[in-house]
Amino acid sequence: MSKPVVAIVGRPNVGKSTLFNVLAGENISIVKDTPGVTRDRIYAEVTWLDKSFTMIDTGGIEPDSNDIILSQMREQAQIAIDTADVIVFLVDVRQGMVDADAKVADMLRRSTKPVVLVVNKVDSFEKFMMDVYEFYNLGIGEPIPVSASSRLGLGDMLDEIVKHFPEHAGEDEEDEIPKIAVVGKPNVGKSSLINKLVGEERVIVSDIAGTTRDAIDTKVKWQGREYVFIDTAGLRRKGKIKEEIERYSVIRTVTAVERANVVVIMIDGVEGVTEQDAKIAGIAHEKGKGVIIAVNKWDAVEKNDKTIYRYTDKIRNTLAYMPYAELIFISAKTGLRLQRLFETIDMVVENQTLRIQTGVLNEILTEAMAMQQPPSDRGKRLKIFYMTQVSVRPPTFVIFVNDKELMHFSYTRYLENRIREAFGFRGTPLKFIVRERG
Ligand code: GDP
Ligand code: GDP
Repeated sequence: MSKPVVAIVGRPNVGKSTLFNVLAGENISIVKDTPGVTRDRIYAEVTWLDKSFTMIDTGGIEPDSNDIILSQMREQAQIAIDTADVIVFLVDVRQGMVDADAKVADMLRRSTKPVVLVVNKVDSFEKFMMDVYEFYNLGIGEPIPVSASSRLGLGDMLDEIVKHFPEHAGEDEEDEIPKIAVVGKPNVGKSSLINKLVGEERVIVSDIAGTTRDAIDTKVKWQGREYVFIDTAGLRRKGKIKEEIERYSVIRTVTAVERANVVVIMIDGVEGVTEQDAKIAGIAHEKGKGVIIAVNKWDAVEKNDKTIYRYTDKIRNTLAYMPYAELIFISAKTGLRLQRLFETIDMVVENQTLRIQTGVLNEILTEAMAMQQPPSDRGKRLKIFYMTQVSVRPPTFVIFVNDKELMHFSYTRYLENRIREAFGFRGTPLKFIVRERG
């Protein structure tokens, strides 16, 4: 169910961004029309043959002195070791093997994570192959020559990457314990929540099936049912540079969200919702996960009978791209509404995997079309033949039409609203794919 994570590590200027952009193609992660949501090209979804994975670029800013470069590379490599299933170590055939490469290679080798050594800027295989072999000396396996900018060798590289994926990655896991990622800015109360939930019996699960990551997962039993909480809180890295810290926290959030069924986005009730919260929430939205917005520290908020409505309005406005998200006001400190939190988690988990029969779905469709005619353009009217649900997590529907061009997003949204009225689906986004029937 969770996609493998591949991280690219390498010195400045070896071509990390170029490779990242080529592989990501159109899929660079940007939430369109969502103000405040991250536009940094830090992660992207990549599909190769029948496999897909999340790629992260661990490279941050580019300092100019050599010892800073080495310490930065170590930092990057550590992030990759902590978070990735496969590490791509990118070097540059034109610069040749340098000391920093050897040091980082040592570090990667000791980590026991699979490493794919990729030699970039091999724009001509004839001219540069002898130089490529030099990189055998790094002791991390066979160097794969590519040219990111001319798109050479990428297929062989991808074959090698996907070979190292955990066996069942990307498939539905057998064990059905819900996995919940708790994300949010520093100091919103993530650790406090998890500590409160586990009380004395904190169990650290170090080996979740299908992942090789050093997970900080906590198993919680609540009224006889089990849940795994994925914690990003204890994983703060002491970087010196603000951009680095932010990049690290984005990567952490992405990988935690990737593995979760439901994401609890924590907001500091005392501070109110901020743009930073919107960025973090955007990650959960893009990944199609179930979402619960938990406004924490509710015990410390001065309230009157309008406070909760004021908060609700402000949050719905700031996070307008996720109207489906459940909203709940809690206190990790006093335990306020933690019972509700679990009930909400159960509901969202169920809604993420809800399947609607095609017959029932099409009754709703017919009714919806009768109430509001499909749009037309230059004399041609949209015809919707039928609709069927093709998958869950998130629930995904294919709509068969006469002409895709005529399917305006506002009509898709209208249909979504009708479906939600009929079946709920609270807490989960819905995905629609429009197809022309041949
Ligand atoms: P990063 O700092 O590792 O992210 O490196 P960039 O992706 O910014 O690339 C650094 C420079 O190398 C840029 O000028 C790229 O155009 C160039 N470059 C990247 N890939 C190739 C390649 O395959 N061949 C050649 N000749 N140049 C490349
Ligand atoms: P994290 O960085 O998100 O893990 O946040 P922490 O769990 O470390 O909490 C940050 C601070 O907020 C600590 O001083 C907590 O005691 C405080 N805090 C956490 N939850 C609550 C709450 O529900 N109410 C109040 N009043 N304080 C809280």
